[in-house]
Amino acid sequence: MKPILTIVVPCYNEEDVLLNTMSELLKVMDRLVLEKAISKDSRLLFVDDGSTDHTWAIIETKAKKDNKVKGVKLAKNVGHQNALLAGLEAAAECSDCIISIDADLQDDVNVIAQFIHKFHEGNEVVYGVRSKRDKDTWFKRVSAESYYKLMNGFGIELVFNHADFRLMSKRAVLHLLKYTETNMFLRGIVPLVGFKTATVTYERKERLAGESKYPLKKMISFALDGLTSFTVKPIRLITAGGAIVLILGAGAGAYPLIQKAAGNTVPGWTSIMASIWFIGGVQLLSLGLIGEYIGKIFKEVKRRPKFLIEDNLLEPQTLKRHEY
Ligand code: UDP
Ligand code: MG
Repeated sequence: MKPILTIVVPCYNEEDVLLNTMSELLKVMDRLVLEKAISKDSRLLFVDDGSTDHTWAIIETKAKKDNKVKGVKLAKNVGHQNALLAGLEAAAECSDCIISIDADLQDDVNVIAQFIHKFHEGNEVVYGVRSKRDKDTWFKRVSAESYYKLMNGFGIELVFNHADFRLMSKRAVLHLLKYTETNMFLRGIVPLVGFKTATVTYERKERLAGESKYPLKKMISFALDGLTSFTVKPIRLITAGGAIVLILGAGAGAYPLIQKAAGNTVPGWTSIMASIWFIGGVQLLSLGLIGEYIGKIFKEVKRRPKFLIEDNLLEPQTLKRHEY
């Protein structure tokens, strides 16, 4: 039996590239069907993440003409990771394997054939890894590299230079969906799923059209979310840092006392000011970090839904998991 493939594409205001993306992905899929590598029931699933442009209209029009094209429209913008999850959840029941790819064709669609090949070899998770990032800005490259290093330093397993271009088997996706945390940092969670994995390298291209939906502010918040979702080590560091500061403080505190006992007046203003500022800084930083985790708990305990589907162009049986 040939596997049914679903390619999930999260889209947020992608009207400039969408038609192009559709035709490229359809070409790849048709070729794979011809080569008998995948079932002819394979399809593309576009998740419209609350776009404000014509993205949904484009998906609907295409879906009417081509039954290989499906769509899910989310009621509002919930961000790339949640949109991807919505797609995985909608596709899981009726696919044997799922590939996720961005709408802007920065990831090489020709690699999809290699993904399928690796899947046939028995791999249940196949990561697309960027070999070169020279099309990304200098800042994005350097910040990404330091981020991987930082995460690895904290013992978090991330696949270097892998974003969300990957294949997962149905089993792996269903297992992934059992992770119910509100803040899903997929890049960190997928390696936790386990199973036999493989990687495929490719060159990342420039965005075909439109602009990045990840400005610096979103990138920083995404990076911080990733870190605090996976480790409490920063809190331990604070404890260790606190202990060191305490010892130093005790030493510094003894000095003026000795001076006083010896009858020397200590001017002390500079050192007092310096320590107040320093310790004030340490405290504020620590409080901020602890606050991050408390904020996280606050978000998690509410168990809010991650997305809401407003409209869908899928067969009713695929929506078993949702009750609308
Ligand atoms: N995206 C999304 N919701 C958002 C932001 C982005 O679904 O709120 C999609 C976007 O349409 C694209 C993918 O996520 O398919 C990656 O976004 P983008 O290419 O802008 O990120 P970059 O490649 O610049 O990191
Ligand atoms: Mg992109």
